[in-house]
Order: sequence, then structure tokens, then C-alpha cells
Amino acid sequence: MKTLTYFSVLFFVFSCGSEAQKTVTDYAESITETELKTHLYTYASDEFMGREAGTEGEILAINFLKNYYESAGVSGGSTDGSYFQEMTVTDRSGNSIDSYNVLGYIEGSDKANEVLVITSHLDHIGIEADGQINNGADDDGSGTVAMMEIAEAFIMAKEDGNGPRRSLLFLHVSAEEKGLLGSKYYTDNPIYPLTNTVANLNIDMIGRIDSLHIEQPDYIYLIGSDILSDDLHDVSEKANEDYVGLTIDYRYNDPTTLVYEFGRWRENRYYYRSDHYHFVKNNIPAIFYFNGTHKDYHAPTDTVEKINYNLLEKRTRLIFYTAWEIVNREERLSLK
Ligand SMILES: [Zn+2]
Repeated sequence: MKTLTYFSVLFFVFSCGSEAQKTVTDYAESITETELKTHLYTYASDEFMGREAGTEGEILAINFLKNYYESAGVSGGSTDGSYFQEMTVTDRSGNSIDSYNVLGYIEGSDKANEVLVITSHLDHIGIEADGQINNGADDDGSGTVAMMEIAEAFIMAKEDGNGPRRSLLFLHVSAEEKGLLGSKYYTDNPIYPLTNTVANLNIDMIGRIDSLHIEQPDYIYLIGSDILSDDLHDVSEKANEDYVGLTIDYRYNDPTTLVYEFGRWRENRYYYRSDHYHFVKNNIPAIFYFNGTHKDYHAPTDTVEKINYNLLEKRTRLIFYTAWEIVNREERLSLK
């Protein structure tokens, strides 16, 4: 009896000890291709009707995200503590649309008033005239489920007493496909002061491989990392070197690099074409994570079985490691 008790105490002590010694890698490993796949098979299913802003599909998407954050223990990030930022926006045809951004929030510890904003767009382009559904598995189901897994990893860390020093806002913007309207609305009506927003990591399409990388698929395009802050670029490079080892392709950092799209060659201008742009124009340094376009871009064939889940896991972990360093480092990222 006595011996047993002694061993039980020892076991208890060692369990507690190993709990306290968990590292960033333990949390990164909670981001798995299995969970990403499970989330995406729901989020990019026909049930969500292509998630067009202002439609029933968007309502299903925002409630899915709210329910997820609620059950994961992530707080609502809107002014009243809710998960939604309601907005009325005007689309390219001049129509008014009622739409919603979704906000999950994890409060920091000693630097809580400084916020890292992670974004992806929750909406897509809905249903074609002939009834085909645009599931948007890559665009931007991939970025959406990546954020869900990153949030879960930070919550696990917080529950172990390893919560972030700075705060994290998981901002799922809507109406991106109608002209970056949700991210514009947020930066015009910020819930957390833009002057205290230390960076934006924007994820838009990270589940596929483009035609330039078929032979070497372990890549990702990063756009903008060194444009406003050398620190941001260095943190990102180090996170990749130390933990992930993807090939980072910076060719689209130059907006004039040509890309073949919609049947012709044109300047890529990606730096201006996703939601980070509204942060950048407010002098907030940003990285845009992107796999490039493919033949299923904005087509009903952008579906879940075409996603490379192992690669999605690696890319999501890279973003998590980068976020971890940004929120936990002593110095705020400095601007150029
Ligand atoms: Zn997109």
C-alpha cells in the first residue's frame, strides 16, 4: 500500500512537471491534417451553398464558426462580447447587403492591449445560374479551417498556463469576394485600436499546389512580409527554418510579376487583392499566405477532395509558429 502511494505521488509530480514543460511544438502538433479535413468537409460541403455574403449560406457559415469558438473556449471578439460584427455593405452593382464578420478573441497576459489579427475570408461566390455550387474548399475554406486549428492550439496553451502575452483576434471577414468589403468594414470600424494592432497574418488559399510547383509541392507564397517591417520578415523566416522547412516563394512580393489568369498574362497585384490590404494601408505590417491560383479557382470544381491535407497542415503550422513568436516576443514588431 505504502509503496503504491509513493509511486502514485511520484507519478503525479512527474505528470505535473511534464505539463509545465510543454513547448510550442507540442501545441503546433495539435494542428493535424485529420482535424483540418474534418472541419473542411463540413465547411465546404453543399449544405453551405457556396457561402455568398448576404445569403443563407453566409448565415450557416457564421453560425458554424461561432459554435466552434464557443465550444473551443474562445471568447467572442466583438464590442458586446458577441462573435459577430454586423455590417451593411454595398457590392459592385450598388446593392446593399447585410453581412457579418466573425470574431474570436484570446486575451493576452502582460501585453494584452497589443493585438495580432489573423484573417481569412468566410464567404465565397455562392451558386451558379445553372445551380452548381461553388464550394470554395481552397478559396477560402482552407484559410478558415487553418484559423480554427490555430485558435485551438493557442487555447490549449492558455489552459496549460502558456497563454499568449499579446492578444489574438481571429477575424473571419465576409464579403471578400464582393471587393474586400468585410476587411474594409473592420478597419474602418475597428473593435481593437489599429494603433495597437501589431500585425496581420492573412490566409487566403493554402490547400492546393499550383502548376509551377508540381515537382516540389512543399512550398508557399508569402507576400508582403518585408514591405512594412523587417522584424516580421525575420520572425517568419526563422519560424520556417526552425520548425517547418517549407520552400518560401517570394516571387509575388513584386506586384508586377506576371501571372496567367482568366485566359491571359497580367500583373499579379496580389498585395492589393486580399484582405491584408486594408491593414497594410493603415501601416500595419502583414503577410499574405497563398498557394497561387489553379484551374479550379472560382469554379464549382474547387472541392474538398482536391485539397492536399498534409501540406495544409504544414502551412498552418508555419502560420501558428509565426503567430506564437509575434505574440510572445519581448519587443513589438518594429516598422521600417
Ligand atoms: Zn479568396
